[in-house]
Formats: sequence, C-alpha cells, structure tokens
Amino acid sequence: MLALIQGKTALTEATLRITAWGMASLTAGPSSTERHRATLYSETFIGREAFMSKVPFWEQKSLDAMSDEEWESLCDGCGQCCLHKLVNDESGDVFYTRVACALLHPETGRCTRYADRLRKVEDCMDVRHMRSAELAWMPRSCAYRRLAEGKPLPAWHPLITGDVATVITAGVAVAGKTVSEDSVDLEQLEEQIISWVDV
Ligand code: SF4
Repeated sequence: MLALIQGKTALTEATLRITAWGMASLTAGPSSTERHRATLYSETFIGREAFMSKVPFWEQKSLDAMSDEEWESLCDGCGQCCLHKLVNDESGDVFYTRVACALLHPETGRCTRYADRLRKVEDCMDVRHMRSAELAWMPRSCAYRRLAEGKPLPAWHPLITGDVATVITAGVAVAGKTVSEDSVDLEQLEEQIISWVDV
C-alpha cells in the first residue's frame, strides 16, 4: 500500500480515499454505509487493473515513455511557443513578444507546415528533444512543461475538456494576437514584448 501512495498524483489521491474507506470500516464498526464502502474498497482493490485503465496516460507514463500519438495529443495548440522570445543573459529571465513565426497562421494560431516544420524553420523548437533548461522557456501553461515539473494538466486542456476550443476560451491561444516576423524589425524586438504569456 505504501508503494502505491508513492505513485502518480491521481493514483495517490484515489488510493488515499480508498484506504480511508477501508480504515473507517475497520475502526468505526460495520454500519450499512461502511459495509458499502468496504465492498467498494474490495472491488476496487481486486479490480486494480480496471482502475488503472481509467487513469489517463499522462498520469501513468513519463514523457519519455509516451507514444508519438500520446505526445502529440498533449500539445494544446496554443501557439505560444511559436512567438519570438528574448532571454536576459544575466538573469535568465524570458520575455515573450507578440512576433510570431512566419509559418504561424495569424487567425487560427496554428502552424501552416506542422509536418515538415523542423526542416522548414531552423529555430523551430523540437519540444520532444528539449533539454530541461530549454523547457523552462515554454509557457507555464504548456502541458509538456507542466508534466515535466510534476504538475497536472490545466482544467481547460482539450484532453480534459474534450473540446479544442477551450484553449481559446481560456485566453491561452495566440490566435488573432500576433504579428508576423516578416512585418517587424527583428532588431527592435524589445518593443514587441507582451505580458499575457505566463512564463
Ligand atoms: S514552424 Fe510552425 S511550429 Fe515551428 S515556430 Fe513556426 S509556426 Fe510554430
């Protein structure tokens, strides 16, 4: 049981709840409610495999262990990583600008060449191969960064809501908020710094 408590967050919370039910039955006497709880506990314990099948993959697996399909589904499509960033050499602070990669569609906020983006754009960030220091440049809302930091997905994430539009209603998507790198002076990026990306 202790080994289970050291598991992933969702499993830990569920296990603690289950354990509390079992303990209540043992210490407070077999009322009908407690007998029901004990039955639930037994069934859940016996059906651990079935229980685990209900735990989402991002709470069961490390990022490295995910399939390509699982990995891709974690991207919420916000487009924030497609914005130019400035890094303070001394402090390491990262500043996002509203200047976007020329391949980012300004209205949908989606990459127009996603499949071959890494060949088309030399500095497009390949998140799957990022070092942890580089991952810290990603927005705090980014699923990859959050999972790497041991945090849950945000409540608005499409894998939670089942709706890709929730990244827009949550105010996280860059759609309609950017200017193309083709239309600004990249030597003057400081003038384009924004504060609506949480980094
Ligand atoms: S190539 Fe696509 S994914 Fe890469 S920075 Fe540009 S718009 Fe974003």
